[in-house]
Amino acid sequence: AFNFCAGPASLPTSVLEQAQAELLDYQSSGVSIMEVSHRGDLFTSVLASAKARLRRLMQLPESHDILFMQGGATAQFSLIPSHFLHGVGAYINSGQWSIKAIEAAKRFGEVQVLASSEEANFSYMPTQASWDKLASNADYLHYTPNETIGGVRSPFVPEVEIPLIADFSSSILSETIDASKFDFIYAGAQKNIGPAGVVVVIVKRELLKTAKEQASPVFDYGKMLAADSMVNTPPTYSIYLADLVFKWLEEQGGVSAMEEINNQKASRLYSCIDDSGFYRNPVALSDRSRMNVPFILADDRLDATFLAESEAAGLKSLAGHRSVGGMRASLYNAMPLAGVNALTEFMRDFERRYG
Ligand code: PLP
Repeated sequence: AFNFCAGPASLPTSVLEQAQAELLDYQSSGVSIMEVSHRGDLFTSVLASAKARLRRLMQLPESHDILFMQGGATAQFSLIPSHFLHGVGAYINSGQWSIKAIEAAKRFGEVQVLASSEEANFSYMPTQASWDKLASNADYLHYTPNETIGGVRSPFVPEVEIPLIADFSSSILSETIDASKFDFIYAGAQKNIGPAGVVVVIVKRELLKTAKEQASPVFDYGKMLAADSMVNTPPTYSIYLADLVFKWLEEQGGVSAMEEINNQKASRLYSCIDDSGFYRNPVALSDRSRMNVPFILADDRLDATFLAESEAAGLKSLAGHRSVGGMRASLYNAMPLAGVNALTEFMRDFERRYG
């Protein structure tokens, strides 16, 4: 079966096999990695390895630190303004996840939405030219490089003088980025990194100097950094699996190799959609996501049949997000090209039979 779920998403088979093989006895310790002390050598070396691999994969500059936190990306929607919003927080509204980040920030101070594609049902990413002049007074600019629900990807990294903050939950490690351009990156793990339960935060130390102290130390970036992400018990098993995924990524040739495969996967699926008169993707060509591909059928009365038949053919979880309907195929790193080939074959056959 191929799993097209938007999240939590599938992990590489070889990673799950390794986890299965060492589940009961981790490195001849006689116990599972789940059962060892988070302060002992076995787990602290997993944590160090995960951080080192992620740093290499993303080519993080020395100025940036990695934190493993809890509460998902959603907790970050509030934690970012509660640390860094002193006057005004600037946001780009490119979809449902941007909206959630904006709504959370409003509880902490003034929010300035520099640009929004809401009037066009979030079918494109606002260009920098449309908001450029507005950003200078804000404490930071927040944007969502990949909108998981709308299937919209920003084809550019904003160039701003203020700290740049990005929610990479659904595209981290799927394409190379210049991390030095960002002051703060965060990503829930459960799409391209590992199981739910951990959120990766990459923060420039310089930005932390402007942070407000938090009431809860587990949600205080400075305190988490000082404690190497272990103010309290971290989600050890999720971090262990993240490390295995990072190792798998290195074996695949790293992020640039992954990006090449992801481009191939996405272009194959978009071609199948665009070449047909039966399927349609509403997003502007330049802004189409490579990770989440929404599409609608010419006749939505066929949706239920499409979903039942695709499920029976081993193509899992193709239903679109409940807020938009239609279909959505998520093509995270663990999805092989063979999965996209199977999907496009199924789609062409479905069109021949029902189109
Ligand atoms: N941001 C983006 C872009 C997402 O896709 C998601 C979840 O799908 C979230 C935030 C929320 O993540 P979490 O469920 O980890 O809070």
